[in-house]
Amino acid sequence: MTRPVYVHDLDALATQARAIRAALPQPVELLYAVKANPDPGVLHTLAPFVDGFEAASRGELRRLAEVLPGRPPAAYAGPGKTDADLAAALAAGVHRIHVESPAELRRLGALATASGTSAQVLLRVNLPVEAPGASLVMGGGPSPFGMDPADAVECARRPPTGIDVRGIHAHLASGLDAPLAGAVAAAVVEWAVTEVGAAEVDVGGGMAVDYTDPAARFDWVGYGRALADVLDAHPGVRLRIEPGRSVTAYCGAYITEVIDVKRSYGEWFVVVAGGTHHLRTPAAKGHAQPFRVHRRRGVEGVRTDGGPVTAVGQLCTPKDVLSRSATAGPIGVGDVLAFAMAGAYAWNISHRDFLLHEPPLFMNGDPQEVAAEWAARPPAP
Ligand SMILES: *Cc1c(COP(=O)(O)O)cnc(C)c1O
Repeated sequence: MTRPVYVHDLDALATQARAIRAALPQPVELLYAVKANPDPGVLHTLAPFVDGFEAASRGELRRLAEVLPGRPPAAYAGPGKTDADLAAALAAGVHRIHVESPAELRRLGALATASGTSAQVLLRVNLPVEAPGASLVMGGGPSPFGMDPADAVECARRPPTGIDVRGIHAHLASGLDAPLAGAVAAAVVEWAVTEVGAAEVDVGGGMAVDYTDPAARFDWVGYGRALADVLDAHPGVRLRIEPGRSVTAYCGAYITEVIDVKRSYGEWFVVVAGGTHHLRTPAAKGHAQPFRVHRRRGVEGVRTDGGPVTAVGQLCTPKDVLSRSATAGPIGVGDVLAFAMAGAYAWNISHRDFLLHEPPLFMNGDPQEVAAEWAARPPAP
């Protein structure tokens, strides 16, 4: 058996990032949410195309300092920041700290004052945004994220000493298509300018990724047009976005091989090396991870009948399901499966120590080439 491997296609990532940048109006600042995939190669590849990086922990601050020294993170965000976290963000020269509560704002003000500086902050607000045309209300309910609008207004009017409120941050939902994301951005900026007189607004990430269709992409051009309208309506506002998943999801693949093929009460299962302890995305999102089969030459034995299969991993839990497919074709022992769209919230959210299997390997390259070469090799014992 051979160890599963994550393959990052950094050329494809650069192409994707270039297209996103080109679709956005020039003044819109593009940040990358590091938590989607903090791989050093990914960060290096994105660096020329983004205006900065959004870190959401001290670990991510450290990662950014190692990989991109001399380039302070654009934003530091996340709930539950300790005093040590806030002090680290101040010391790292983070451009904007996104503050989640009035109490956090007071602690940050005290730390900044004690170190003789002031903190440049965006207040994260939990707005009841209704996107016109889509009867969807996002935010506006109880949540650990952000402040109630009235609290944000109060913090902006009377900030504690040591705090310079530059504007508003909102990250209200994920899985937004371009028209909805555009409507949300318009509503957030409208609120921020009207209620707080915000000079800067970060409208967050959450751009949709469709795991049922690896060829589909978020409509960045349409979203860019919507943001241009927002800028026209509010000239002078600094507008920022911070996508994660939609930037990196497509650049990663998880490649592994089939260990066992079996039929259970009439249904076909293929058991692969590895599993959701390497690629937790399908378990976390409840979807079928799309995959392609590379047939192994020279291996005899049981093959599925070409109908529906469930692809599972090596964990002793029925939740270890990577995918279900009706159209994969016959699959046999030794075949190589290349799971696509494994470049965001994949390895880095996985429960890697469950059952103490070996971790996957990592490499850069073209995933389909790697899978084809793997399938051309004789099976390892
Ligand atoms: C996770 C997160 C993002 C990125 O979200 P995606 O769905 O990956 O685009 C952006 N901003 C904040 C505050 C987040 O928590």
